[in-house]
Amino acid sequence: DPAVRVEDLRVEYGSTTALDGVDVTVEEGEFFTLVGPSGCGKTTTLRCLAGFEEPTAGSIHIAGESMAGVPPESRGIGVVFQSYALFPHMSVGENVAYGLRFSGPPEGTTKHERVEELLELVDLPGFADRDPDTLSGGQQQRVALARALAPEPRLLLLDEPMSALDARLRERLRVQVREIQRELGITTVYVTHDQEEALSVSDRVAVVDGGRIEQVGRPRELYDAP
Ligand code: ADP
Ligand code: ADP
Repeated sequence: DPAVRVEDLRVEYGSTTALDGVDVTVEEGEFFTLVGPSGCGKTTTLRCLAGFEEPTAGSIHIAGESMAGVPPESRGIGVVFQSYALFPHMSVGENVAYGLRFSGPPEGTTKHERVEELLELVDLPGFADRDPDTLSGGQQQRVALARALAPEPRLLLLDEPMSALDARLRERLRVQVREIQRELGITTVYVTHDQEEALSVSDRVAVVDGGRIEQVGRPRELYDAP
């Protein structure tokens, strides 16, 4: 089974059609990107994968298992959003540990060890006692990534995680995220409106427009003149 299989996914909000029949397959370990203009349905697709949104029609399978009626916390998914969703009243370590609230730490580790291990993974060793607001935007997004990865999800969803950063930090974070993804081998679905970003970072890219996938391919196969 592929890591993700989406078939004829449809979402309607009243008279607005957000998704008009999305079909997509993501292979195990792939870094797969949905790219397209604002309002084309990228976030809605991600929200359906995460289980935050009930599709009007269609199906989602993760590792061959139907996600119909499966709540977000039981899907084995980690999500990082656009804006920093860290809790400002909690330390960095507590924010990461929050990612373990449903799962607990992996077999054979304590919560504390797991938090330390994750902060090392995202290149923020020793940051556990810091307040989130003393960190740069890129550092905060890496903490959000550590929190999302804490329970060892099988699928990582990233919704424009770089968009609030300036160009230089965005480039650095993009490289870091890709390195971490490769190191873990975790299947990742990434959402961006930035075509250049999509082409530089992805194994495969799906071009989304008007609630449909117009094109899917490896970066060098896309946008080529016929
Ligand atoms: P993208 O992530 O590509 O910017 P979205 O998935 O957020 O696009 O939105 C797709 C379409 O669905 C847009 O037309 C948007 O206005 C509409 N939409 C998204 N969420 C809602 C909602 N909660 N209620 C009504 N319309 C929505
Ligand atoms: P607990 O859940 O243990 O009752 P807290 O809510 O205070 O306690 O913190 C949650 C978890 O956050 C802690 O168990 C610990 O694993 C993690 N944590 C908090 N601060 C640190 C830190 N400085 N270093 C490593 N982990 C930390």
